[in-house]
Amino acid sequence: MDVLQLDVSGRPQAWITPREAALLYASDSVAWTVGRACKVLRGGFQRATGLQSRIDVHPIVAVRGCVPSRAWLQTPSLSNPKLFVRDRFLCAYCGQRFGFDTLTREHIVPTSRGGRDTWMNCITACKACNGRKGNRLAEEARMGLLYLPYVPSLHEDMILRGRRILADQMDFLLAGVPRSSRLHG
Ligand SMILES: [Zn+2]
Repeated sequence: MDVLQLDVSGRPQAWITPREAALLYASDSVAWTVGRACKVLRGGFQRATGLQSRIDVHPIVAVRGCVPSRAWLQTPSLSNPKLFVRDRFLCAYCGQRFGFDTLTREHIVPTSRGGRDTWMNCITACKACNGRKGNRLAEEARMGLLYLPYVPSLHEDMILRGRRILADQMDFLLAGVPRSSRLHG
């Protein structure tokens, strides 16, 4: 399992390992937690008491510290794995579902024609459709988009990056994802 790390304002920051979370607890850096403890880590025996130290790790931990005022305005970085999850592994042109190796990052306005490498100009397409469209605009190629691109929120970005997301974590993250997101679908 991974632990979802938030800043003290509740903004998702990272997926961390239970060991990394334990270090936060041990250094008194955890401000608050969400959900029931999901893992117990045991450390060394204390000489004085003979008791073994133990840390209960929660699925979501918020760390102390100040939050930059613009932190919530950050745009999540774009990567192929996240793009394909955003678009549910569906080709935007033919509508078929494909595996990771058959999909491509398709630029709606081709980069050769000034299109930018951003969430709003990128969509998932299979290799065949991407090749067919080539350097043309969708209108020129007479290939319509079956769904539209959008910029994921920070909460959604954490879902796109997660590997095995626990129910408590998914509930928390989905609550911060706009209703219009495909992740609700
Ligand atoms: Zn296709």
